[in-house]
Amino acid sequence: MLAAAVLRRQGIDVTGVTFITPFFGAERARQSAAHLGMPLLEVDLTEKFLPLIYRPPRGFGRYHNPCLDCHILMIREAGDMMAKSGFDFLFTGEVLGQRPMSQHRGALNSVAKESGYGEVLLRPLSAKLLPPTKPELLGWVDRERLLDISGRGRKRQMALAREYGITEYPSPAGGCLLTDPRYSARLKELLARSAEVSRQDLELLKWGRHFRLPTGKKAIVGRTHKENEAIASLKHPADLICKIKNFPGPTVLVPGSAGGEEAAMAAALTAAYSDAPEGQPVTVKCGENEEKLLHLIAPAKDNFKEWLI
Ligand code: SF4
Repeated sequence: MLAAAVLRRQGIDVTGVTFITPFFGAERARQSAAHLGMPLLEVDLTEKFLPLIYRPPRGFGRYHNPCLDCHILMIREAGDMMAKSGFDFLFTGEVLGQRPMSQHRGALNSVAKESGYGEVLLRPLSAKLLPPTKPELLGWVDRERLLDISGRGRKRQMALAREYGITEYPSPAGGCLLTDPRYSARLKELLARSAEVSRQDLELLKWGRHFRLPTGKKAIVGRTHKENEAIASLKHPADLICKIKNFPGPTVLVPGSAGGEEAAMAAALTAAYSDAPEGQPVTVKCGENEEKLLHLIAPAKDNFKEWLI
């Protein structure tokens, strides 16, 4: 937002670009663009991004975040859009030294070079600390009016936001699930077992408790009404859904066609995580069309600790 404001103050028209994958969405960018009154282009990057969650050439950050390769991909995509749509140059809000892995000098240089658009990639907030780019050299942008911010602190950025009348802006963290330790752990477990993951797999990782059944199938157990609804909405026709009768309880989903043994396991999980007291005889409905009812004694949650991912 600040980088855009800095350029606009020089009379330059700017357009935002935001990328969407199952791991991050456009919501924060939409709010920021709306606050600035700036046009925003939204691009679904999922297909090009997915190879990076397996073997990113430059490795992962602290969790399952391939930040360097992600930056390169995004700049390359934005550059291709720039070239096709007649824009003149690219800019980002990156600040030298703000992120230890992805915004040190070497990383900024590497992203510029590997993206193929280094010449026209301007970082207005740190520009005075970086080599001049084509937009500066050709006078499209006045380098003197760009900034020299570096480091992890955000004081200067916050002061500038006040100066520019930017009163609402997103917090610096929390926008990408690949930096979430719980999501990352689940994703790693999934990738270790599956040669290919689907969008449904990735969406399901966001919700509920996840169990790996002894047969290798997965069961996802909703923890709240919202999670139950989200899990049910992600059901594919072949998936199995279990619900307990006569007690409040979770929606349990087993993706893919489940056999009788798996249905029994899912029913046991459904009962264990319901409000039915342990040892209570209960009925669990597994499957929607055939109304399959399973009668069992509600087991203790502890019985399933080993399956928990
Ligand atoms: S945090 Fe996520 S969105 Fe941001 S650069 Fe890293 S992988 Fe990409």
